[in-house]
Amino acid sequence: MKQATLYEKLKDNRVKCTACAHYCQIMPGRTGICGVRLNKDGALYLLVYGKAAAVNLDPIEKKPLFHFLPGTAIFSIGTVGCNFGCDFCQNWDLSQASKMVQQKVKDPKEKILQLGKLVEYGQDLPPEKIVEYCEKNSIPSIAYTYNEPVIFFEYIYDTAKLAHKKGIKNVFVSNGYESKEAWQAIHPYLDAINIDLKSFYEKFYQKTCKAHLEPILESIKRAYEMKIWLEVTTLLIPKENDSDEELRSIAEFLAGISKGIPWHVTAFHPEYKMNNKPATPLDSLQRAYQIGKTAGLKYIYTGNVFDLEHQSTYCPKCQQLLIGRDWHAITESNIVNGKCSQCGTKIEGVWD
Ligand code: SF4
Repeated sequence: MKQATLYEKLKDNRVKCTACAHYCQIMPGRTGICGVRLNKDGALYLLVYGKAAAVNLDPIEKKPLFHFLPGTAIFSIGTVGCNFGCDFCQNWDLSQASKMVQQKVKDPKEKILQLGKLVEYGQDLPPEKIVEYCEKNSIPSIAYTYNEPVIFFEYIYDTAKLAHKKGIKNVFVSNGYESKEAWQAIHPYLDAINIDLKSFYEKFYQKTCKAHLEPILESIKRAYEMKIWLEVTTLLIPKENDSDEELRSIAEFLAGISKGIPWHVTAFHPEYKMNNKPATPLDSLQRAYQIGKTAGLKYIYTGNVFDLEHQSTYCPKCQQLLIGRDWHAITESNIVNGKCSQCGTKIEGVWD
């Protein structure tokens, strides 16, 4: 556990956490919504500092990032806890664990004890060890992923700063709920981000994710303005967020910022509180693909399904195949110095 940097002290030993757009006001002995930021005697502590609950070496395509160092491995870490409560979460056993303790255990002392035990889950992985491993094994980037990264902000910040000193890049896989204070602090060290835009309707975010839409739209605009490489993902859930109208709204919003933002439309599989829903049919993903094209987006990708044609990158001008993909493997590459090898069109992304 380490004292947090993103918070303000309030009256009566209360604190206001400024890491995410919930801006929780937290009483002594309690955590915020995410369950991992604890008010102890009027100071805010990050319970999961240096405690990685999930650690993997992934292909960067799995994040998904298709226009950022394609074909490389990315060191990926996550902790317990999350600031959202999505009914369809695929990592709910980790993301919702601390919240369950917060809700179920009533006695404040017992609560702190249980939270302490919970965050002991996982391995000790201080920032220095992560960076040392990446340097030794020539891993070019680190992803803060699996749960919402901004809730373990101080752990990320120290790792990301150290990583940059060694020429290693930093990536967020995020629900887009970063506060403006978090953006200000992290942006010099953040190289790429994939933001989930789960819906274009406030009522979906409130009911299904226990959050709000507006901060996410703000984060998408902010990441683009800050020149952090940005890709966006929408998980299509049948009859929940897959109408033509909603998909068109998302695609037009992205195209209004930049037609070069890659948009991943991925398949839902029954999970957590939505395990009675059917999986997303391929037709819906391809319909979203066409809607994205009509809105003017240059790069759209279907995901979590077998659909090689719609998972490859094509030149928006001459239509040459630029990057062929077979799931997470690169089968062909025709981008030279960031340009199409056939017609010389500049292709948006970070290629070296
Ligand atoms: S990170 Fe967000 S959810 Fe967690 S305590 Fe801070 S404001 Fe609340």
